[in-house]
Amino acid sequence: MRITHIECHVLVQPAYDVTAASSAQDDIVVEVHTDEGLVGVGETDVNPWIARACITAPGTHNMGLGLTELLVGADPLEVEGLWERMYVGTAMNGRRGAVINAIGALDIALHDLRGKALGKPCHALLGGAVRDHVTPYASLQPETSSFAEFRDSMVEWARRAVAAGFRAVKAEVTLDGPYAHNGLREPWERGTELLAAVRAAIGPGVALLVDVQYAFPDADTALRVLADWEGLDLFFVETPLWPDDLDGYRRLAEEQPIPIAAGEWLTTRFEHLDLMRRGGIAIAQPDIGRVGGLTEARRVCDAAAEHGVRIVPHLWKTGISIAAAAHLAAVTPHCDYIEFLPAELSESGLRKDLTSDELRMVDGVIPLPTRPGLGVELDRDALEAYAEEARRVGAVLR
Ligand SMILES: [Mg+2]
Repeated sequence: MRITHIECHVLVQPAYDVTAASSAQDDIVVEVHTDEGLVGVGETDVNPWIARACITAPGTHNMGLGLTELLVGADPLEVEGLWERMYVGTAMNGRRGAVINAIGALDIALHDLRGKALGKPCHALLGGAVRDHVTPYASLQPETSSFAEFRDSMVEWARRAVAAGFRAVKAEVTLDGPYAHNGLREPWERGTELLAAVRAAIGPGVALLVDVQYAFPDADTALRVLADWEGLDLFFVETPLWPDDLDGYRRLAEEQPIPIAAGEWLTTRFEHLDLMRRGGIAIAQPDIGRVGGLTEARRVCDAAAEHGVRIVPHLWKTGISIAAAAHLAAVTPHCDYIEFLPAELSESGLRKDLTSDELRMVDGVIPLPTRPGLGVELDRDALEAYAEEARRVGAVLR
């Protein structure tokens, strides 16, 4: 079997808002085609036009080859070998950043393809499942313009998530900092008030995760705020500091007790190793597409095990990424949760529409996917509708 061509679908949902603090309103979906008619599907979480350029651009010399030309003609079953080929072949343009994000989409598609070709779910080909289900947590990110509304919506969403069966919820508390919603600029004492209200609403038996989205300018500020949260039994606080402040992360690990999670933007195991070794994080959050695909996410998980670091993958895209995360979690003993937003709690139409037979939560857990490959099916009507919107938005941008 040989790879014949690669299709890139840039997708955008209507009412595209570049000021929104959510990357779930657009997508790039790749399809890797073969001469035997089998097709693998992948996606990644980055500006989809940039990812498409990374995949379709021709190479210029032997240290900066094009991703498409590196794959066409190759045997798609040699997934790990193809990862090396893409990584080394694009070295002068890539090694980090958007090229690795794009490799991630292609690598996920290759894992899907290999599973379909061999008639096995991806997790069976990643070494075999160590559990029969994965546990999702619900990300809660109400869009509001006042603090009172934000707090009350967060509490209401948390209640709904627990009522729907979730055993863990994550409050996206963006009161200040670079990604504060709708201009909210609130003192962090109000964050304490909000989290206490959520904890009271969900009770002691549900895990409470907090994402502050890079809010704190330095470790001293973060330490002052986190000191007020010690009584809230938080499972982790996510990305308190800018990802380059590795020494700041180290101080949070050493000077306060709440576990710190980070890693959603990082590419390759090498960046994750810096965060684990120098930053001292307790939980690594590889985003499977961004980090470089299932092949590289698996290596991050292996490195985490060696460093006593737990895994909770980041995930803000469609059913393709949900499936990829479920397969990764299936083979990762030290993975506690996967990020998951059921369609009824999502404001993204793309997430709801793009894949059919999406994985479902039953009694608070997601049974492992059993179909060959990732086990997802693209909804062709939705794909075409969102691609048409992307063409319209792309034309306006030009
Ligand atoms: Mg986050």
